[in-house]
Amino acid sequence: MTQKKRPLGTIARKVSPDSTGRFTRQRLTEEQQEEARQSRLLRWALQAEARAILPNERVAECLRAINPMSLGVQVLHSTEHQIAHYKSLIVCGSVWMCPLCAAKISERRRDELERAVTHHVEQGAVYMATYTVSHSLYSHLLSGMQKDAMSKLDEVLERQEGDEKSESG
Ligand SMILES: [Zn+2]
Repeated sequence: MTQKKRPLGTIARKVSPDSTGRFTRQRLTEEQQEEARQSRLLRWALQAEARAILPNERVAECLRAINPMSLGVQVLHSTEHQIAHYKSLIVCGSVWMCPLCAAKISERRRDELERAVTHHVEQGAVYMATYTVSHSLYSHLLSGMQKDAMSKLDEVLERQEGDEKSESG
């Protein structure tokens, strides 16, 4: 690994975490573990390509530069989860350019979404709505477009409540 003196930019929120999160390999079969290993190798290979293609982007130094605020790099290993990872390396945090960061961020978002959906299902229900609003380059988002979208959402929710009441009553 080559150590460059060039700063990566803002580092305040972009340092590899010291926790393994909630991920565990204990529940995976050997075949699933091998599949995960192959996926991980592919992500590292893709990051190497991204680094070559985008040498001036943060992805070029992701997990290759040491956080200047730390004394060095630590390799942490969880015997419980059978996972090892680096601590104090700078990460780029780019979902779009870095396959390694994208995987971590996606997993974290999936977990957050799963917990939110579980919580809301316990409280009642979860709905997902997508609307496309006709607009031009000069339309102001917070004017009529937002009101239109919100009123359509209100209509859907009122209709849903009406359906639920008629089913239960
Ligand atoms: Zn990254």
